[in-house]
Amino acid sequence: MIIDVVTIFPQMFKPILGESIIKRAQKKGLVKINLVNLREYADGLHKKVDASPYGGGSGMVFSCGPLFSAVESLLGYKVYPEQKKDSKKRVILFSPKGKLLSSKLVKKFLRYERLILIAPRYEGVDERVNKYLAEEMVSIGDYVLSGGELPGMVFIDCLVRLIPGVVSSPDSVKQESFENGFLDYPVYTRPRDFRGVKVPKVLISGNHKEIDFWRRKKAEDLTKKLRPDLLEVKDRRRKNKAKL
Ligand code: SAM
Repeated sequence: MIIDVVTIFPQMFKPILGESIIKRAQKKGLVKINLVNLREYADGLHKKVDASPYGGGSGMVFSCGPLFSAVESLLGYKVYPEQKKDSKKRVILFSPKGKLLSSKLVKKFLRYERLILIAPRYEGVDERVNKYLAEEMVSIGDYVLSGGELPGMVFIDCLVRLIPGVVSSPDSVKQESFENGFLDYPVYTRPRDFRGVKVPKVLISGNHKEIDFWRRKKAEDLTKKLRPDLLEVKDRRRKNKAKL
């Protein structure tokens, strides 16, 4: 998979992309991450990518010109309203107005060969970018950040670890929080006794059937206590399935 990130701050991404799992994934050739400096697609001496909003108001807005040029150079074709898009590529814009990022949503993007991420700043982008260039809008939560760089990094991290072969033990990805609608079970490691608090006996029993049962039960109890909304969604899905 190729992931392009269109940004005015490519340097912000480098420390995150150059470490740990994402670094290894790139080394193994499982993903190629291409940082695109939006200013290279701006005209004029100052390489301006923004302008003040029509109608007045505070802040600056990312203009259409540089963003369309940058994304079109990655797509390999010009984008016009109502135009048919390349089904192997997806253009994603980060915005607080977007669909909330979740494990379910991120998995949807694994099917594409190339993802083009737009990470703006200021007051956001000209609405024509939203409407005609971006195919998806993604939010990482109901709060406002100063720019799309952190959402971009969160998205890349979340996605790359799901690419087959990236995480050395595929089971660890399958058993995580939100898989199967539950939060993850509690885990312990050495020492067995820390300041008088002991590791639950079942985990050192060697009985894997009982360990699995304990983990499932703990995952359910934790979800009930901390995120009952996840169980409601699970329940609703089950009922809808039964109706079909
Ligand atoms: N005026 C915009 C609004 O109220 O919806 C917020 C603009 S914000 C200061 C600048 C940029 O940061 C946004 O265009 C978006 O790319 C990014 N951003 C901020 N919060 C975000 C969030 N929760 N999820 C995704 N992107 C976000």
